[in-house]
Amino acid sequence: MPRDTGTALLREVFGFDAFRPGQGEIVDAVAQGRDVLAIMPTGGGKSLCFQLPALMRDGVTLVISPLIALMRDQVRGLQQAGVAAGALTSGNTPEETDAVWAQLAAGELKLLYLAPERLASAGTARMLSRAGISMIAVDEAHCVSQWGHDFRPDYLKIGALRRDLDVPVAAFTATADEETRAEIIARLFADCQPQVFLRGFDRPNIHLAFSAKDKPRQQILEFAKARRGQSGIVYCGTRNKTEALAQAMREDGHAACHYHGGMEADDRRTVEARFSREDGLIVVATVAFGMGVDKPDIRWVAHADLPKSIEAYYQEIGRAGRDGAPAETLTLFGADDIRLRRSQIDEGMAPPERRMADHGRLNALLGLAEALDCRRTVLLRYFGEAAEPCGHCDLCDHPPDVFDGTEAVRKVLSAVLRTGETYGAGYLVDVLTGNLTDKVRQRGHDSLPTFGVGKEFDKRGWTAVIRQMMGRDLLRPDADRHGALVMTDAALPVLRGQDTLCLRRDSISKASAQRMPAVKSMVNEEDAPLLSALKAKRRALSEEARVPAYVIFPDRTLIEMAETRPASLDAMARINGVGAKKLERYGSAFLQVITGADAPPVHPMRRKLAGRVEGSVYDRLMQTQADLTRGTCGTLKPLSCSASILAKVARLKPGDTAGLQRILGDKRQERFGAAFLDVLQDAG
Ligand code: ADP
Ligand code: ZN
Repeated sequence: MPRDTGTALLREVFGFDAFRPGQGEIVDAVAQGRDVLAIMPTGGGKSLCFQLPALMRDGVTLVISPLIALMRDQVRGLQQAGVAAGALTSGNTPEETDAVWAQLAAGELKLLYLAPERLASAGTARMLSRAGISMIAVDEAHCVSQWGHDFRPDYLKIGALRRDLDVPVAAFTATADEETRAEIIARLFADCQPQVFLRGFDRPNIHLAFSAKDKPRQQILEFAKARRGQSGIVYCGTRNKTEALAQAMREDGHAACHYHGGMEADDRRTVEARFSREDGLIVVATVAFGMGVDKPDIRWVAHADLPKSIEAYYQEIGRAGRDGAPAETLTLFGADDIRLRRSQIDEGMAPPERRMADHGRLNALLGLAEALDCRRTVLLRYFGEAAEPCGHCDLCDHPPDVFDGTEAVRKVLSAVLRTGETYGAGYLVDVLTGNLTDKVRQRGHDSLPTFGVGKEFDKRGWTAVIRQMMGRDLLRPDADRHGALVMTDAALPVLRGQDTLCLRRDSISKASAQRMPAVKSMVNEEDAPLLSALKAKRRALSEEARVPAYVIFPDRTLIEMAETRPASLDAMARINGVGAKKLERYGSAFLQVITGADAPPVHPMRRKLAGRVEGSVYDRLMQTQADLTRGTCGTLKPLSCSASILAKVARLKPGDTAGLQRILGDKRQERFGAAFLDVLQDAG
C-alpha cells in the first residue's frame, strides 16, 4: 500500500498535514497487514494508526476497545469526519444497532467497534466471520495483563478470535514495562513475534513539577485557582478525599465533581460524560478515573497524593494535553505518602519478586520526586531514553538550592541505629533536636550521644531530610513494625564515609517556600480574545450537535486559527485538524468568527477543492470564463460553464484539446478551450 495514499487520506479525512513521529511507520505496517504491537505514549496518536489503515484496506476493521464511552466518542468523531464507523455496545439505542447491521450487510462499514464483553458470546464469533473482517485492532492491549489494574478477562478471547478469523492483529498500548509487553505478545499473538514499535516516551508539551506537601489542600487549590476555567484532574489517594476536595473546589468557585470506584456505575458515567462535554470541569478522582478518560484537551493534572509507581505517574500525567497543546502538572508528595505506598506493596497479595519490582518502581518515582536536576531527563532515562535538560520542568525553570547533606544524613542514620530501628520519623526528630518528651525520657534515649546533635535544623528541616532519605531508599518503613524506619544497604556507603550526598535545601526551610509552576497562557495576549470567541462558537456547535467540544475541533486547531487568522476557506483548509468534511460543516462558521463578517458564498463544488492546488485552478478558470462569456470580441451570445464542469476540469486537468472537449462539449470548447488549456498548462 503506497505511503502517499496514507498521507492523502490523512489530509483529506483527518485534516492533518503530517504524521506525528512514529505514526507513519506503524500505519505502513498495519496497512500492509502485518501483526503489529505498537507502544506509544498517551496522546501519541494511537487511534489514527488503525483508523487510517482501516480506510486503506479492503473489508472491515474490527476494533476492540475496553470502554463504551470511549468507543462512542471515537465513532462519533469518525462519523463527523465522514468515515463509515459504528459500534456494537450495550450503550446503543436499537436504531444505532440496526444502522450498524445494515451498513455491515451492505458492505459499507469500514470500522466496527466492539465491546470486549461481546466476544464471550458464540453468536458474535459467527457474526464476525461473516462480516468480512480483514483486521483486528486492539486498543489498550495491556488489558490482557493479569497483573495490571486494567485487566479485562474478555481480552483473553482475542487470541482465539484472531486464529478463527485468520486476520492480522494490530495491538496498541501506552504501558511501557517489559513484563506487560511479553504478556501481550503471548496472549494476543500466541507468541508469534509481531512487529514491535516502541515510540519515544517524551511528551514535550507537558510541564512537569513536584512539590513537597505543605498544607497540601491549599497547594492544590492555588494550583487550580491559577488555571480557572481549564479542564483538569486532581488525583487523590482515597475516596473520602476526592469528595472533600471536590467540595472545597466548588466552594472556591470551580465547577468540580468527585469520582471513585465506590460510586454507582450510573453516577460514574454521568461524571465521565460531563467531563468529556463540558469545557473547564475539574474532576477530583481516585485512579479509577482512568481509561475512560479520552478527552484530548485536559489542560492540567494534579496529584494531591503521590502515585504508586513511576509508570502510574507517567500514565496519569499523560492524560493531560493529548492534543499537543500546552498542559501542566503538579505532583505533591510527603513522607506519609511514601510510608503508605510501601505498606500497600508489602501488604499486597503479589508474589515476592513482584513486590521487589514494585518497590523498585516506587523508588524510581521517589527518585523523580527528589531529583536535583531536569525531571524530564530523569523520567526518560527510566524509560531508556537519553535526553538533554528540557527547559520545561520546575527544576529547569528554577534550579534547586542544594547542599552537602552527608553529615545530616549520618546523624539520622546514627539516630536510627542507636534506637534499634524501631521508631518513625517523628520520634527520630525528637531525638535529633533534643526534644525531651516523656517517651524519650522513659526509654532513656536522652542519654544517647545522638540526642540533641541536630541543632542545625528545626523539626521541619529534619522531617525534610528524612523524607529525602526515604525518597532515595536509604531508609524504609518496616512492613512488620508499623512505621518503624530501618536502614537499607544503600545507606552503608554514606555511613562508612565512602560516599557523599546532596540534599535540597528549598524543601527544608520555610523561607524559600514552594514555587508553584507559573501559569502559561495558550496564546499571546492579542490572540486571546479571538481564541475565546472561537471557543464560544465551538461550544455552541457542540451543544447543537450533542458531541464533545473536541469532536468539532481540538484546542490546538482553534489555537492555530487564532494565531494565523485564515481569511478564506482555502487558508482555513490548511489549518491542522481541518479535514474536508469538517471544512464543509464548520469552515464558514469559524471563518465568520475570525473575519467578523459573513464569508462570501462559496459554491459547494468549489468548497470541496479548498486548500488544494485545484482550488486556485478553479478560481482562474472561473475568471477566464467570466472574461469570455461574450467571446473575445465581447459581442457573442452569453455562454458559461457550471460549477461542476469547472471543478471537473480543475480536478482532471486534461492536457490536450481532446480531453478538454470531452468535458466541455463542442460549444464551450470553441469558446473557452484554448484559454482553459493556457490556465491548465500554467498551473503545471
Ligand atoms: P492516544 O490514543 O495515543 O492517547 P489519540 O489517538 O487519542 O491518542 O490522539 C491524541 C490526539 O492527537 C487526538 O486529538 C488526535 O486527533 C491528535 N492527532 C493524532 N494524530 C495526529 C497528527 N498526525 N497530527 C495532528 N494531530 C494528531
Ligand atoms: Zn527539565
